[in-house]
Amino acid sequence: VESRASLEKEIRGGLKRREFLVYYQPQVDGDGRIQGVEALARWQHPQRGLLAPGVFIDLAESSGLILSLGQQVLEIACDQLAVWQADAATRHLSISVNVSARQFRQADFVERIIGALKHAGANPVGLKLELTESMMLEGVDGVIAKMQALKQHGVVFSLDDFGTGYSSLAYLKRLPLDQIKIDQSFVRDALLDNNDATITRTVLALGETFGLSVIAEGVETVAQHQFLEQHGCKAFQGYLFGKPLPIETLTELLRDNGAIS
Ligand code: C2E
Ligand code: CA
Ligand code: CA
Repeated sequence: VESRASLEKEIRGGLKRREFLVYYQPQVDGDGRIQGVEALARWQHPQRGLLAPGVFIDLAESSGLILSLGQQVLEIACDQLAVWQADAATRHLSISVNVSARQFRQADFVERIIGALKHAGANPVGLKLELTESMMLEGVDGVIAKMQALKQHGVVFSLDDFGTGYSSLAYLKRLPLDQIKIDQSFVRDALLDNNDATITRTVLALGETFGLSVIAEGVETVAQHQFLEQHGCKAFQGYLFGKPLPIETLTELLRDNGAIS
């Protein structure tokens, strides 16, 4: 058991030493072809090995270190995007980056995103930012203004963990979103629990109504995939298609998948 104070100090040191890495999880279309990836932070801890966000993300959030972590993830993802965009075989791939409410709230958030893209030499159209409903607490108007500024450059937006938060149809209609992401808790239990099945179907119908694409996350089984497909889902993410992987392994998977030649 580690105290919060010592873990915080370790995270701070890890950030300084650049121990945080980015893993990439495939996102596939209806034909199973990889369209893009979600960037997920990992900590290559010198003693404890590879650590998932469950170990560090909450403390990073509450201590404010998420700002520095988020910036590092953003920079790594933009660099990778530029590498893919420089090659005709991988030019079509997008990268989704998770944005914490604290990051989004920064006064210079828009400039930071555009700055990272410019520095990497990446075309903004390949960058998808995953927002959460907790961001709306800052006030929907401010959120919309920042989203619109980024959209003018071509950046796209997905609403993560949809259905778990303060979901309001009023703001769903107003936000300039491109995609909503059905939370994995609904996908997991869609075949076990009638309520979760109903929520899943409703989110898919909602996407259709609002002209938003819908991606399902946490897809682990063929049965879940079939259920989602039957109800009109056309984008998927989950262990069934690939776990979060280091870039080298992901590149092999892209080749096997036929996503690149
Ligand atoms: P998330 O954004 O909802 O990411 C999806 C999580 O589900 C990831 O966990 C992923 O590994 C896991 N997952 C993917 N497919 C499946 C599946 O089929 N079954 C199951 N059971 N799980 C699956 P991970 O990588 O541990 O990340 C956890 C959370 O940490 C993320 O949840 C996100 O909220 C946060 N996070 C990760 N990286 C970042 C980051 O760079 N910035 C911020 N702000 N948050 C991050
Ligand atoms: Ca996410
Ligand atoms: Ca999620």
